[in-house]
Amino acid sequence: MCTTCGCGNGRDDPEHRHAANPLAPWSAPAPLDQGTRLVSLEVDVLEKNDRYAAANRTAFAAQAIQAINVMSSPGSGKTSLLVRTIEAMRGARPAAVIEGDQETARDAERIRATGAPATQINTGKGCHLDAQAVGRAFATLAPAAGSVLFIENVGNLVCPAAFDLGEAAKVVVLSVTEGEDKPLKYPEMFRVASLLLLNKADLLPYVDFDVEFALQCARRVNPGLPAILTSAKTGVGIDEWLDWIERGRTPRVAVAR
Ligand code: MG
Ligand code: ZN
Repeated sequence: MCTTCGCGNGRDDPEHRHAANPLAPWSAPAPLDQGTRLVSLEVDVLEKNDRYAAANRTAFAAQAIQAINVMSSPGSGKTSLLVRTIEAMRGARPAAVIEGDQETARDAERIRATGAPATQINTGKGCHLDAQAVGRAFATLAPAAGSVLFIENVGNLVCPAAFDLGEAAKVVVLSVTEGEDKPLKYPEMFRVASLLLLNKADLLPYVDFDVEFALQCARRVNPGLPAILTSAKTGVGIDEWLDWIERGRTPRVAVAR
């Protein structure tokens, strides 16, 4: 269960069947004396997640996998951007993708059409990826050593920010069809990010989106946050994004035999 947002999340249930969540916000309010229990449950969930995240980090490092957790609200163009990115990387570096959505394998299919391996996690009622599910998906996917592993999180600007997946970096995507003040409304997501991609730049002539104001909002919560204007349609910013990925490439870690 997601204790950050109160949704049901089948983290221990591969079938993604969910029992009614007694702590969900739409159920009757819990008696006051349960407050302590709620807080400790949230700590337990995040501590357990952190243990799986540490295991993922070790597994990624052993094969020089550079994992990048890509997060945004739904509809910001994450999948299209990844398709364009993978096409631009072709021949230079292997890429693989773990896709997170509540339902369907549509995004994984779009990635596989590029020739890159992809696997889909369906979270059912859950609204974020957690480290245990990502670890399982990674074992199934078995990307080539030295790959960039993009983890496209469930479209949601809230609780994905709280869950470490073992990634090397978190990237937040904000499209120019959204409000410039999203970073102020959802500060935690923009605070944990190492890079902001301002996506759908090709639409700038048609929308009232003030790039400078959006950057101000983002840097108010995360001073110095680097940002790149990108478009999957025109390819603007893709080279810069690839350079940023390359600079974060992790050296292969020697593994004891
Ligand atoms: Mg998608
Ligand atoms: Zn969630």
